[in-house]
Amino acid sequence: MTRETALAKATQYFETGGFQSDLARLVSYRSESQNPNPAAQAESLRYLTEAMQPRLEAMGFTCELIDNPDPKGGPLLLGERHEGADLPTILTYGHGDTVLGQEGMWREGLEPWEITEEGDRLYGRGTADNKSQHLINIAALESVLATRGSLGFNTRIVLEMSEEVGSVGLPEVFQTHKDRLTADVLIASDGPRLQPDVPTMFMGSRGGTNFDLVVETHEGAHHSGNWGGLLADPAMILAHALACITDVRGQIKVPEWRPDSLTDTVRDALRDLPVAGGDGPEVNPDWGEESLTPAERAFGWNSFAVLAMVSGVPEAPVNAISGWARATCQLRFVVGTDPENVLPALRRHLDAHGFEQVQIRQHDRGFFAATRLDPTHPWAQFVGASIRETAGDLHVLPNLAGSLPNDSFTDILGLPTIWVPHSYRGCSQHAPNEHVLKPVCRDALRVMAGVFWDIGASGFRGG
Ligand SMILES: [Zn+2]
Repeated sequence: MTRETALAKATQYFETGGFQSDLARLVSYRSESQNPNPAAQAESLRYLTEAMQPRLEAMGFTCELIDNPDPKGGPLLLGERHEGADLPTILTYGHGDTVLGQEGMWREGLEPWEITEEGDRLYGRGTADNKSQHLINIAALESVLATRGSLGFNTRIVLEMSEEVGSVGLPEVFQTHKDRLTADVLIASDGPRLQPDVPTMFMGSRGGTNFDLVVETHEGAHHSGNWGGLLADPAMILAHALACITDVRGQIKVPEWRPDSLTDTVRDALRDLPVAGGDGPEVNPDWGEESLTPAERAFGWNSFAVLAMVSGVPEAPVNAISGWARATCQLRFVVGTDPENVLPALRRHLDAHGFEQVQIRQHDRGFFAATRLDPTHPWAQFVGASIRETAGDLHVLPNLAGSLPNDSFTDILGLPTIWVPHSYRGCSQHAPNEHVLKPVCRDALRVMAGVFWDIGASGFRGG
């Protein structure tokens, strides 16, 4: 009955194929929250009732399914496992929904809704984001429970099925069920490690907001011979509008979009963190804010991206001046950028540059706010020490570069938030060929078993 035994149990779960077969089952649910088809919504409910609830109940959780108060959102599961009023309470979280499967776009031999094993990789939609991540945490809890007979702390869990559509309804559910979600800390997993072979811990995330820029010049398309030079070209106007948002190397020119929160403490935390290398694409050194290091650009600054852009019919161009052009855009932003002011600031900036004609249409999906917890917070120190004991090394980030519904945990529940991601940056989440690395999953099972063991053994409550 030692820490080593709990870690060995977690390792054994991986080595004997339990993890892989469990993940395969989770991936088989086509839980696409971005798919409005009722079948996808039904699949989300089945994910919770068939794949999650029985397993949690077997561990001693009391579970309740909650309807999403937002009609665009899927169901949620709230679970609680109580051991004692004087013990610490850990809240954990996962999302069982995925982005669209993108069937037919995966590499030959791969399918989104079944696991394909190739060397160290397990391919499948949702493997990295987020199915393996909450599976690892649940299995790590099981390993500690099987070793000690108890966890040594109370556990609460929330599983949502709408993260990929902006976690709609999550804030309302947190407000309504606040008393059932209070805890000493959130410990959860999503997103990638900085490097596959070293665990990462982050304590917040960048926010993000999506919107379309639209130029509509006239009804329909008109013959370019007869009308070229006479009709304004919407694609050209849109390109110039985009060019006033950033310069030629992507440096943001909208004044309110340039954060003032890159403090010395944050700079210190980001120093020497590796962002290049690994299995991802090569970082472009000449892209982004010139005066910043790559780590500061990704974790301490805002980034603007054009996610998609269209005018006319690119697949079948005709000799005509298009009547419209549209770019789907995104701003990822750190603490210090007011989410409510992102689009008003852009409106002022476009108007000031003569682009009154360019419409801004915010996407219906909610946006995530930016959050951060100081790396010197007691919970960050405690979990960090535990991870170092298991893995020997750790990368600590003040916040993730991606986005999470972390503000619901920090602002509504008032929790310190610790995220320990179990994927890696080359995982192709949100794209075809999504996968996880088996050695990272194995390591993560051990890391989390160590964290849960140490909390139970010490009774640490953050004081
Ligand atoms: Zn995602």
